[in-house]
Amino acid sequence: MRGLSTMLLAAAVGSATAGQQDEFRECLSRLQQRASAEGISGPTLRRELAGLEADFGVLERLDYQPEFRSPIWDYLGALVDEQRIEDGRAQLLAHADTLAEIERRYGVDPATVVAVWGVESDYGKNFGKRPLLEALGTLSCFGRRQKYFFGEFIAALGIIDEGSLAADKLKGSWAGAFGHTQFMPSTYLRLAVDFDGDGRRDLVDSIPDALASTANFLADAGWRPGQGWGFEVRLPEGIDLSDEGRRKKRSMAEWQRRGVLRVDGAALPEDGRAGLVRPADGGGPTFLLLDNFDAIYAYNASMSYGLAIAHLSDRLRGGGGFVTPWPTDDLPLDRAQRRELQRLLSGRGHDIGPIDGAIGSRTRAAILAEKQRLGWDDSPRAGQKLLRTLREQQP
Ligand code: CA
Repeated sequence: MRGLSTMLLAAAVGSATAGQQDEFRECLSRLQQRASAEGISGPTLRRELAGLEADFGVLERLDYQPEFRSPIWDYLGALVDEQRIEDGRAQLLAHADTLAEIERRYGVDPATVVAVWGVESDYGKNFGKRPLLEALGTLSCFGRRQKYFFGEFIAALGIIDEGSLAADKLKGSWAGAFGHTQFMPSTYLRLAVDFDGDGRRDLVDSIPDALASTANFLADAGWRPGQGWGFEVRLPEGIDLSDEGRRKKRSMAEWQRRGVLRVDGAALPEDGRAGLVRPADGGGPTFLLLDNFDAIYAYNASMSYGLAIAHLSDRLRGGGGFVTPWPTDDLPLDRAQRRELQRLLSGRGHDIGPIDGAIGSRTRAAILAEKQRLGWDDSPRAGQKLLRTLREQQP
């Protein structure tokens, strides 16, 4: 029932009334004056705002309270699977010269840069499809964070104004991040670089510009060349974890004194300061996170995302998976398994659209229907258990 009410609410929010369209036009003319005062040129404003339409769908995302939050092992399973590791290693080879030059200039190693690219846009395969000006214009006029989004709206107009990207290239996720490495427009203005030397900072069609901009971001956020992000550790029995936390940094000597070892039993490195983090409640891997993790965290303020980038970078360097198992008996599906699940759902008569390994709304609805048929829970999450069960029950 909660699912149904959410869908009805989404439908109501997604379709605007005539009054809201009028309100948007009025708001837009106010924004135009303010954008002009902020230095955006008249021709750009007239060209870009004349026919701009509201995208009320973004408001639904703004207030969306996820009914179920993915556990961290699902995030990591989706973002760091065999396919993304293989694709990333191929990209490391394909762009080896560019990445070496980027490391010389910004001090950020190739695997880290490519891992950000892989997590943010699946190496350029997934930029998002929403026209940025429509999304940011709407969020500047409606909803909870109008001031913030107005700043991003102005920044997006500034990108167009400087001639680096045309409006039709500015498409992205709901909140305004765009391009290979999903910069927000204000981040772009501050930190994007023209690395291929054509005079334009282009995070959409220039991979060198996008990768160098990512390295520049991390350098600006305090990246320390030659240091890693951190590592998995093993804790002694009875350790006092009252000062656990990414920002509660202690010296390695202090962690060593408390009996913390690398997960393979080796001693900790001598230098550096690190915070101890156990990202899953009730068990799973424990990490010591160094300053460089904070630089990654600045990219996207989420422990799950930060660990996905950090872990993918390790895997791209040839490292293995985490040693300590996550506290679950239902591990997530990789993309090949998600495609298999979609085929099985389709075989049971569900219309799930293309078999693409992406769990969209139709696949989620089919998963929910099957779990209800089985008398399981009412979350649209699918893991290994459902895959195994549907394999065994093929009609
Ligand atoms: Ca360029």
